[in-house]
Amino acid sequence: MQTDTIPLPDLTWQEEALCAQTGGDFFFPEPGSSVREAKRICGLCPIRAACLDYAMNNDMRFGVWGGMSEKERLQLRRTAR
Ligand code: SF4
Repeated sequence: MQTDTIPLPDLTWQEEALCAQTGGDFFFPEPGSSVREAKRICGLCPIRAACLDYAMNNDMRFGVWGGMSEKERLQLRRTAR
């Protein structure tokens, strides 16, 4: 009998995430709250590009990922079509 397993995604890049050191509150603010501090931290993060790729490829709808807000990622997705 063959048992197929679904490979787990490689998320080792997240080990270098600056947001993991600062806490998630900045990155998932209440609606209408500023994302400026989250974006500032993302600007210093060594894995910003990988983070943004992950968010775009996995349709992450909420929060700041890779230095971009939900709205900015939506605009990027629309212009990439
Ligand atoms: S780019 Fe921003 S959201 Fe992504 S891992 Fe780095 S600090 Fe976190």
